[in-house]
Amino acid sequence: MEESSIKKFLTSIKCSGCGQHYESGNIDVLGHREDLWFLSVFCPSCRARYLIVAVVTREKVWEVITDLTEAELDKFRGVGTVTADEVVDMHSFLKSFDGDFSRLLDRKQV
Ligand SMILES: [Zn+2]
Repeated sequence: MEESSIKKFLTSIKCSGCGQHYESGNIDVLGHREDLWFLSVFCPSCRARYLIVAVVTREKVWEVITDLTEAELDKFRGVGTVTADEVVDMHSFLKSFDGDFSRLLDRKQV
């Protein structure tokens, strides 16, 4: 899937802070590992920055998880060093993800 299609999809998502839709100009693709994409969005209306993790296949965005704050996002930037095994782990993790991102971050820091 093209980055532009992913950004377009993300503009259909509302900011979890204020409910405003994101704009494609405020969405940055940080990178992806296979079909797991990491994006940063900035909400101009409440001036918050969030990390979005999306599971994307060729045709479709399957799952989007938001809600990381900027500080948490900084911790997460090391994601560029993940191995294929970790991506597989992440995949199964996301499938059963319960919304507790602090647990995810603790896990990544080990
Ligand atoms: Zn907002």
